[in-house]
Amino acid sequence: MNPTPTIGVLALQGDVSEHVGALEHAGARAIPVRRRSELESVEGLVLPGGESTTIDKLLRIFELHDPLRAAVKDGLPVYGSCAGMILLAERIEAGIEGQRTIGGMDVTVRRNAFGRQVDSFEADLDVAGISDLPGGAPVRTVFIRAPWIEEAGPEVEVLARIPERTTDGSPVRVGAGKIVAARQGRLLATSFHPEITGDSRVHALFVSMVAAG
Ligand code: GLN
Repeated sequence: MNPTPTIGVLALQGDVSEHVGALEHAGARAIPVRRRSELESVEGLVLPGGESTTIDKLLRIFELHDPLRAAVKDGLPVYGSCAGMILLAERIEAGIEGQRTIGGMDVTVRRNAFGRQVDSFEADLDVAGISDLPGGAPVRTVFIRAPWIEEAGPEVEVLARIPERTTDGSPVRVGAGKIVAARQGRLLATSFHPEITGDSRVHALFVSMVAAG
């Protein structure tokens, strides 16, 4: 058990510095990862949001695709947010021609699932392992052209879903009941961006997964 693990943030595209800040706030040492040697030096890795098709291309250009795939297979703890969730999925719906993922999580993810009408939105969500702790409040979440998990295999633990109803009781129009946070072993994925809200509890959950080894 290492209480201050070194965690990398894949730094090819996306909001890297916000993740570095949230990880440090949650008690880890955080470093950007662009090379294989950096990947080999970390005990866990965050895949930030951005554009999954671009990150996929950059992973191949930087020769990180295969090493990352191998690291996930070997049990490296990885947390993927938004585009990062897409990268962790074994299967994608609405991907572009030839789009590949790192995989590891037995889920089918739908890209840009919430559609144009609700491109981006915020919500307070119950997240298992966080808001159900004593004194835990719902997590403020930000969704930006976000994916959702369409279908999850038996090994996948569902941590959060879009609720069926809003707090005033009206039915949620898009995505009601869809999975937006999940865990499978050492892999954690959220459709939303927790790094831009100032609430580092999702990062703290990931740091504890890394620290547990
Ligand atoms: N829509 C993006 C994709 O398909 C993800 C958006 C995000 O990471 N904020 O990769």
